[in-house]
This record gives sequence, C-alpha cells and structure tokens, in this order.
Amino acid sequence: MTTPVLLITGTSSGIGLASAIAAARAGFSVVATMRDTAKAGPLREAAAAAGVELDIQALDVTVPASIEAGLAHVVSQYGRLDALLNNAGAGHVGTIEVEGVDAVRAVMEVNFFGVVALTEAAMPLLRESGGRLVTVSSVGGVVGQPFNEAYCAAKFAVEGFMESLTPVAGTVGVGVTVIEPGAVSTEFVANVGLDGPQPIEQTPYAPAFAAYLRRTAAAFDPANAQRPEQVAEVIVAALTDDEPAARIQTSEAARRFTGVKLADLDGSAVQNLTSGWVATPSE
Ligand code: NAP
Repeated sequence: MTTPVLLITGTSSGIGLASAIAAARAGFSVVATMRDTAKAGPLREAAAAAGVELDIQALDVTVPASIEAGLAHVVSQYGRLDALLNNAGAGHVGTIEVEGVDAVRAVMEVNFFGVVALTEAAMPLLRESGGRLVTVSSVGGVVGQPFNEAYCAAKFAVEGFMESLTPVAGTVGVGVTVIEPGAVSTEFVANVGLDGPQPIEQTPYAPAFAAYLRRTAAAFDPANAQRPEQVAEVIVAALTDDEPAARIQTSEAARRFTGVKLADLDGSAVQNLTSGWVATPSE
C-alpha cells in the first residue's frame, strides 16, 4: 500500500509541530511546511527524538508563489496528496476603534485567506486521492470573544467556508473537518499581534482590557490549557478515521464552550458568558 502523503502548514511550533510528529508516527509521509525554515530546529529535534523522518519545506500561506512552489514540490516528489492540514494561524488582540481596518485585513489574510488559498491549491490533488481536508479553527470560530474581533471574524469565516464546502467536497470524495481547540499552551500567546496606532492601555477600553488579560492569563496557564500533543492526537484521528465529524472540539472544555453557542438562539447565553470576561472589579 502507498504511504499517504500529508502537507501541514505552520509546523515551526505548537500544534503544527506536534501534528507533524504524530502524523509521521501514524504512518504518513509528512511535508512539514513553515514560512521560515531557519526556524526548523525544534521540529528537527522533535523528529529525531521520535525517530521519524519529515520533509521540511518553506511555505508562507500569504504568498501565492510560495503556495504554488510547496504544492509543486508535493507533486514532483510524491505524485499525490492524501491530506492537507491547514494549521498556520496567528492570534490578534485589539478592538476596532483602536486597531483599525488594516490590522483586521492582515489577520484575515493569514487566518482566512491563507486557508482558502491552500485549499484551492490542494483540491485537485485531494480529489484525485479521495483525500482529507482538515483545518485548525478554534472555539473562537464558534464563539466571538472580547478583544478578539478580528481573530474570531477570521475563524468564523473559516468555519462558514468549510461548512459550506463540506457537502460539495463530499460529492467528489474529499472529507472536510474543522478542529476546534480551546486554550492550548503553544507560542500562540507570545505571537499574538497587539499592533495598533495606540496601546489599548491608553484608551477608554483599558479597564475592560485589563480584566480580559487577567481572565486570559488564567485560561492559558499550562495548568489549565491543553498541550499541543493532545490536540495533535485529535487531528490524527480526524485524518485517519473512516468518517470523521465535520466539526471536532479537542477537549471537554471546548465542547462545553462551543455548546453554549450552538444552542444559543437569541445570542444571550454567549453575551452573559463573555461580558463576565471584561467586567471590571467595580461592576
Ligand atoms: P503557534 O505555536 O504560534 O504556531 C503557529 C504557526 O503558524 C507557526 O508555525 C507560525 O509560523 C505559523 N504561521 C503564522 N503565520 C504564517 C504564515 N503567514 N505562513 C505560514 N505559517 C504561518 O500557535 P498554535 O497554537 O500552534 O497555532 C496553530 C493553530 O491553532 C492556529 O491556526 C491557531 O489559530 C489555532 N488555535 C490555537 C489555539 C491556542 O490556544 N494555542 C487555540 C485555538 C486554535 P512562525 O513561527 O513563522 O510565526
């Protein structure tokens, strides 16, 4: 039997790195891509420790020529693609009055259009192989969260795109799944974009932002957050199960959180929950 070929974006750290290792262990030929291969040290070390081989390639999901070259490599090297894991993404914290529309566009570029562009490029190969399209969304793709307007909008867009594509892709033999992690201890928080013309701390949103940061620090504390290896396990199951669900939460906490929204017909349950995140001590 031919070894199935999997391309993953964003494998320099976190969920992408852990998924590359877990998928290679599960028997995939993994094309592990990252935008800057000078950052491949941790992935190479993890692969050596796990005793697996990876094909590490450069791929920036925001650069069309880079996507084209990545897929051309897959075709010339393997002649097939059995699965794409859209994992690359970056958080962004802000609010529209402070961050401005250009920041929102940049967040959409990486988290949404990056996914769309990779999907477009991979679809002919996935159709040929009857393959899998798995995308790392977030609980933030279901529940809008304070100071995450741009990030949640991008992940909502991913969810809408994939939910719409799923039945269509099914008609040509391609399975589609979105993965919804809650807080995971990766480089995600350190990499969160905070850029805007003015620091939030110097705006009328400062008290709410301070409350948000307190709540978020607790959620991402390694004692509370999931480990990337746990998320990778769920991803590999989605890649290998005969009939994976269209939407998979990676933890019980993520299931509870998204469940609030999915049964929230008038939006009040979500608002009751998340307004508590930005309540200042006097409230
Ligand atoms: P991470 O450790 O920061 O990893 C993110 C990866 O995406 C890095 O390899 C990063 O590369 C890459 N990336 C960013 N922009 C890119 C671009 N333009 N082209 C190619 N790669 C790019 O964070 P993570 O937690 O593993 O994030 C992986 C996915 O999980 C993301 O889609 C994220 O939204 C999602 N997620 C994370 C959490 C969480 O709590 N951590 C929760 C829910 C969903 P560089 O090293 O070059 O920046």
